[in-house]
Amino acid sequence: MMDDLRSLYQEVIIDHSRSPRNFGPLDAANRSAEGVNPLCGDELTLNCYVDDADIIRDIRFIGRGCAISLASASIMTEMLKGMTKQEAESIFKQFHATVTGANAGPSADIGKLEVLSGVREFPTRVKCATLAWHTAIAAINDDTKTVTTE
Ligand code: ZN
Repeated sequence: MMDDLRSLYQEVIIDHSRSPRNFGPLDAANRSAEGVNPLCGDELTLNCYVDDADIIRDIRFIGRGCAISLASASIMTEMLKGMTKQEAESIFKQFHATVTGANAGPSADIGKLEVLSGVREFPTRVKCATLAWHTAIAAINDDTKTVTTE
């Protein structure tokens, strides 16, 4: 059962890394940030359009990196579209707690991000999985400095 789940998660990660959703430039962007994870070589530029009510109307990314970092960015952009800034920060908090092992209970509702929960067994991959999120939160908050995991 656990093995089935793992291979399913693996398939989802491979699918998202091979054909990332919301990949490419965003002409209407009013916020952006760059993120790098030197340890693995992951890098991305995150562009989003946040309206006056702090709702993320559109979000896209450009970048390169390992399968985990690309899949994480792809799944994240799908989730964040339509969310408020507060909702985005809240779900990132839960996701971060899940992958760092701070939140082992089944209570955290991280939806599709569950496929990335396996990185908690590989501490160096946690940075790959969270890079897009750190970068998105910086962009949403209009904090334009480059985000680095180191
Ligand atoms: Zn990586």
